[in-house]
Amino acid sequence: MTVLGRSVRAGFESRFHRPAAGLWSAPGRVNLIGEHTDYNDGFVFPFAIDRRTVVGLRPREDRSIRVASSFAEETVELDLAELSPQNLNGWSAYPMGVAWALGEFGADLTAVTGFDVYIDSDVPIGAGLSSSAAIESAVAVALNDTWDLGMDRRMLARVGQLAENRAVGAPTGIMDQSASLLGRVDAAVFLDCRSLQSEVVPLGFQASGLELLIIDTKVSHSHATGGYAARRESCESGASLLGAASLRDVSVADLTRAAEVLDDETFRRVRHVVTENQRVLDTVRTLREQGPTAIGAFLDASHASMRDDFEISVPELDLAVEASRDAGAIGSRMTGGGFGGAAIALTPHRLVPAVQSAVAVAFTSAGYAAPDMFVVHAAEGAMRED
Ligand code: ADP
Ligand code: MG
Repeated sequence: MTVLGRSVRAGFESRFHRPAAGLWSAPGRVNLIGEHTDYNDGFVFPFAIDRRTVVGLRPREDRSIRVASSFAEETVELDLAELSPQNLNGWSAYPMGVAWALGEFGADLTAVTGFDVYIDSDVPIGAGLSSSAAIESAVAVALNDTWDLGMDRRMLARVGQLAENRAVGAPTGIMDQSASLLGRVDAAVFLDCRSLQSEVVPLGFQASGLELLIIDTKVSHSHATGGYAARRESCESGASLLGAASLRDVSVADLTRAAEVLDDETFRRVRHVVTENQRVLDTVRTLREQGPTAIGAFLDASHASMRDDFEISVPELDLAVEASRDAGAIGSRMTGGGFGGAAIALTPHRLVPAVQSAVAVAFTSAGYAAPDMFVVHAAEGAMRED
């Protein structure tokens, strides 16, 4: 059993005074490329990472659900009959929201037993690595097995998204849950957010001597909610002014006309999404034809587009990207929703220490707090652990 698995078993027993019946886990994710494309019906290319959230679960004889986490002192309790988005708040809205959302997708919640859940995780919280999808997906697979629901992974991804949208109240797309549920070792998930079709594409980082370094600036998402909503609105209004159902239907060739129709700001928002969709397609094709050493330029272009057109970067992210590139990364970009969080730097294995120290020095010189840096590997999606 993993260290985290042991800690979940111990934490479960100390909170609930009985052993967990089983352990399930789901990973965080990093998005290699395709940012703010998910809610525009576009393409994303994330992978599951070797940082996981583990849940221990035991069914109960009654209809009570109780959730506890290493992350919080309190154990939150609710009757299954009381499950609804308006009765949920705080961190427990994630696991309980998943139970509620399973009902929305057809599980008969009047016929199931209650449960106790204990959660621990080594996914950094709020760093843009989707600890939220990790907790949702881990709880989703645990309840899918425990309640014998037989839902497939794609449906469980939609369950997690619904929980996040309605129970938590965050208007996010389906990328994070898809990566966490569909990810495979040494591969990324090429996801069409319109059809929800997905394909697992081998990355081959290790065979090419590459590592993906995460640079977590630890700058918080303080303007993120408002900024995210504003970007979504710009995308919607841009699409409607162009007579398109969504920006997915606008191509790079259409941008000339878009420049005439749209105001400057809306045009730049649209240009980011349209070119980013193309970069995802280019990255997937290039990866297949030439391997991972050839994709760096797409990562760099993605960052420039988010910095200049979509305007969701911050100086710390720009510095992380520049310093890592200067020290030998073959491609770098901010990743996640923006306004803080992490950057990724695709780096030759032997240059990882040099890139890390160059970024650390650059942050110190700029007077920024030291970032957290660590390498992640593409890992297996959600699974039963024990
Ligand atoms: P991110 O997904 O980028 O890490 P979010 O704000 O989307 O950030 O989700 C973080 C929230 O998810 C936390 O504030 C907490 O409410 C919940 N969460 C994530 N992991 C855990 C955990 N292990 N235990 C309890 N709550 C968690
Ligand atoms: Mg999240």
